[in-house]
Amino acid sequence: MADLQRLGDALRQHGGEVREASPGDTVDGVLARAVARPASAEGVAAVLREATAQGLVTVARGAGTALDWGAPPERVDLVLDTTGLDRLVEHGAGDLVVVAEAGLPVAALSETVGRAAQELMVDLPPGRLAGGSTVGGMLSIGASGPRRLQRGAVRDLVLGATVVLADGTRASSGGKVVKNVAGYDLAKLLTGAYGTLGVVVRAAFRLHPARPARAFATGSGPLADVAARARDVVASQLAPAAVEIDRPAGSDVAEVAVLVEGTTAAVRQRAAAAAELLGGRVQAGPPSWWGELPGAAVGQNGPTLAKATATLTGVADLLAAARDAERRYDVGIALRGTAAGALHAAVTGPPEATALAVGHLRAAAPSPREGTVTVLRASRDVRAAHDAWGPVGGLDLMRAIKRQLDPGRNLAPGRFVGGI
Ligand SMILES: Cc1cc2nc3c(=O)[nH]c(=O)nc-3n(C[C@H](O)[C@H](O)[C@H](O)COP(=O)(O)OP(=O)(O)OC[C@H]3O[C@@H](n4cnc5c(N)ncnc54)[C@H](O)[C@@H]3O)c2cc1C
Repeated sequence: MADLQRLGDALRQHGGEVREASPGDTVDGVLARAVARPASAEGVAAVLREATAQGLVTVARGAGTALDWGAPPERVDLVLDTTGLDRLVEHGAGDLVVVAEAGLPVAALSETVGRAAQELMVDLPPGRLAGGSTVGGMLSIGASGPRRLQRGAVRDLVLGATVVLADGTRASSGGKVVKNVAGYDLAKLLTGAYGTLGVVVRAAFRLHPARPARAFATGSGPLADVAARARDVVASQLAPAAVEIDRPAGSDVAEVAVLVEGTTAAVRQRAAAAAELLGGRVQAGPPSWWGELPGAAVGQNGPTLAKATATLTGVADLLAAARDAERRYDVGIALRGTAAGALHAAVTGPPEATALAVGHLRAAAPSPREGTVTVLRASRDVRAAHDAWGPVGGLDLMRAIKRQLDPGRNLAPGRFVGGI
């Protein structure tokens, strides 16, 4: 039982508040008991130290828009609300670097760096930005958008992070390194870890200069054709910022959209060349689906969301496997993502059929090195129907890291692959 009085005492001198949880503080169907909202990294350390000493399980929460990603935690005693840590610590415009506290909304960060004609190229869609997605949540989810093709994923854009471990120890990468985490590239380790290793309190990111002009080239056609044409654009000299494929559920046709960025004149020329390769046309703005994950509905009744990776040449097989799985298992599979081979799949259907269809997609890659399918969000029924993560290499190493950083399993236990 959470001793709120002692949690509150731990936080008092650092600012912030502790309260009893309400139904709105549920984490993916798991009821929490208490919520702490510290106002500083010192407050996070103090409250985590006390919570862990009480044997409590803590789950970090930013804006709370993606708490249903990953498996539900086994238990939640304390929700650690990070939105009180909302300072933009430093914008080094000359160095193209920004440092922000974990609870700062990504939209606020983007607005500040945008004034210096710079951007954090994570490509969160407008709806996500408006939803208040935080820096810590974005990092912990580790999803990436269209310009991953040119600029890399969140993992490539993060330069450093400060984290509070379950016992209240603060650790940083890129600066002073605390003894027991020396040797790890902490920021990369925390990316996509769903808050299972520590609570991120601060992160530093690489920025890029905003380009003055952009244009899109789009085309559509049968699945194999589209995959081949998109591949041609990726491999061309046109240096596209993004090449995205969208294949709606049940369709034998897919659309491809290419983004080129640069100076006005160069963009016009490169977009025209891309349109020619696609057998399509140039358009000023993006297609409506650009940068959004497929299958918009969320929650327990929404589609199962999976991430499917493939080699450049394996994308065609993945598209074909989706069509095949739909026929075989009577499900719908919408696929969308970069033509270079990092796509999202939204699978709609009964739990058993969904699980079989995910397995079918997984089998499309000749080997795990050439493609993986990981379920990011699924209902309890779908998760119960099969091992949602699928085969994962390096699990022993991941477990060893968890044991080292969170030996008592006080942070979101069960959320990550292998029950981590
Ligand atoms: C192109 C693109 C499209 C996307 N579309 C969607 C979409 O449609 N739906 C969607 O849900 N997401 C989408 N995302 C993912 C998006 O990044 C996350 O939804 C969002 O950033 C989460 O922010 P949040 O503050 O709401 O996190 P929360 O929902 O609060 O937390 C998410 C996870 O991170 C953990 N966490 C949060 N803060 C911390 C912290 N400080 N330290 C440690 N762990 C922490 C939580 O415990 C939880 O496991 C998209 C991302 C991209 C790049």
